[in-house]
Amino acid sequence: MRAADIENDLDRVLVTEEQMHDRLAELAKQVDADYAGKDILLVGVLKGAVMVMADFVRHLQIDAPMDWMAVSSYGASTKSSGVVQIRKDLDTPLEGKHVLVVEDIIDSGLTLNWLLEHFETRGAASIEVLAALRKPDAMKVEIDAKYVGFDIPSDFVIGYGLDYAERYRGLRDVAVLAPHVYS
Ligand code: 5GP
Ligand code: MG
Repeated sequence: MRAADIENDLDRVLVTEEQMHDRLAELAKQVDADYAGKDILLVGVLKGAVMVMADFVRHLQIDAPMDWMAVSSYGASTKSSGVVQIRKDLDTPLEGKHVLVVEDIIDSGLTLNWLLEHFETRGAASIEVLAALRKPDAMKVEIDAKYVGFDIPSDFVIGYGLDYAERYRGLRDVAVLAPHVYS
């Protein structure tokens, strides 16, 4: 669905599908160059990163294997708990791999911060982050994300894989949810 299909549930659109695709194509060019000849592994964080992973990997010219991890996230609330629990681990050993973590959004940064520290203990050759979205004003820990799609305000957003209580992940655009939906 597009934002126009559910406009009563939305406050405003922040990033259109077209803008996201153009930006991911640019980031893919950088990643193609940065990882040429390297043993790359894309690590997606379920479920929010499904859309960005699917679109990003197809913009790449290098062949990049992907693996998936599931960690505890917001649940049905709109605030980060900071508590991270692995619900599904990777299938791939990270030993010697150049890991690129693909994320939907960096909000507080607490989830990624925990993940990055955890991956370091598994012997990856390098670890970088690609995030479709980032909320610079909401960050509680410094995350040095090398590839960022768009910086956005600290509002709660949905679409492009991001949900509210498992709804709206299929929205093609990124939008701010209208407060009446969750209050
Ligand atoms: P963080 O630990 O950086 O605060 O965010 C952890 C996870 O919470 C993100 O990967 C994402 O799945 C979810 N999240 C953060 N901000 C938002 C948001 O604005 N909307 C939605 N739907 N999920 C978010
Ligand atoms: Mg996530």
